[in-house]
Amino acid sequence: MNSRRDFLQKLGLSALALQLVPYSGWAAGTDKTEQVYDGPVLRVAIMGLGGYGTIVAEAMRKCTKAKLVGVISGTPSKVKAWQSKYGIPEKNCYNYENFDNIKNNPDIDAVYVITPNGLHHDFVIRVAAAGKHAICEKPMAVNAKEGQEMVDACKKADVKLLVGYRMHFEPKTLEVIRMRQTGEFGKIRFFQGQCGFTIGDPTQWRLNKKLAGGGSMMDIGIYAINGSRYMTGEEPIWVTAQETKTDTVKFKEGVDETIQFQFGFPSGAVASCLSTYNMNNLDRFFLDGEKGFAEMQPSTGYGPIKGRTHLGELNQPVTTHQTVQMDEMCEIIFNNKKPVVPVNGEEGVKDLKIIDAIYLAVKTGKKVEISV
Ligand code: NAD
Repeated sequence: MNSRRDFLQKLGLSALALQLVPYSGWAAGTDKTEQVYDGPVLRVAIMGLGGYGTIVAEAMRKCTKAKLVGVISGTPSKVKAWQSKYGIPEKNCYNYENFDNIKNNPDIDAVYVITPNGLHHDFVIRVAAAGKHAICEKPMAVNAKEGQEMVDACKKADVKLLVGYRMHFEPKTLEVIRMRQTGEFGKIRFFQGQCGFTIGDPTQWRLNKKLAGGGSMMDIGIYAINGSRYMTGEEPIWVTAQETKTDTVKFKEGVDETIQFQFGFPSGAVASCLSTYNMNNLDRFFLDGEKGFAEMQPSTGYGPIKGRTHLGELNQPVTTHQTVQMDEMCEIIFNNKKPVVPVNGEEGVKDLKIIDAIYLAVKTGKKVEISV
């Protein structure tokens, strides 16, 4: 752990200068309220310097409580570029063979694993063995068994395991959850989640069963699964699912193109969802209760998220999801802050149990009972 005070002191700034370090964030209300932050700073190494790793790194420039300090990559040229872009010292640079040595590096608190899905399990377990906190991208693993092994390894090593569920910190999403919790919608009856896009390059890892763990469900359908849980506030007790495949060359065995799936919840509420790699313009949530509704579109993209309820437009602040996520993860790791919707490994395993059940329902054509 290191604090902003330590950073400034290393820079040779006086304690007085600390009072000149303001921060503002949506959680503090609006940009009008400025506060000084002098708490711990989460020092993060990003593993996997690809598309999403780059988005997280850029977003972290605006963080108050988290800082990008290291990289883990198999591509030396990328490491060099990131070093000069983000001021990363040589001693905080690793590759996939030697990153276990991070255990001897006191200047890194956490590793954020942003590699293809199929590699999350082994990498997170190695991060835990090195005694560092693990942040892992969704899907946390490619099945619930692997996910549970990751949870167990992090528990054993006494490090935290968090999953990059950025929507759990998004203001409009949190407002709908608040309204549901306070009974604004009445008894929830129905959730609809539609998530998808048309995927390009047929040679990419997302269409490789071993690296992706599946197809659209692992990548984008998981948002509808996770959303159905945080929007309704319930865990599904049964699943039915149907797969459609129009291109068996692009979407090989074990790589799903389109799956429609349905959930039943203990209250009697139901959900109807769609996950696809073959349709555009699908990023929509609809929550229906006895007294009202919420509709979000886009509902899980990088933003701005838009939505309305029976009471009118949602007008909570637009945020950079990954900036807020990383600042909040600092609070969770160092101050045991409990987010409104959990982002821990157990939360990741719940989604994976549901994905396992969806794939089983597709395979058997039967209704699958689950307990998550
Ligand atoms: P990407 O292909 O752009 O980047 C993957 C990175 O992993 C690359 O730097 C690549 O070099 C590296 N890598 C290491 N070993 C590899 C291997 N054996 N094969 C291929 N690449 C390898 O992918 P991405 O879009 O950055 O996705 C990475 C992870 O982030 C995935 O788990 C994905 O689901 C997740 N993601 C999350 C969000 C979100 O909004 N939370 C958005 C996009 C991606």
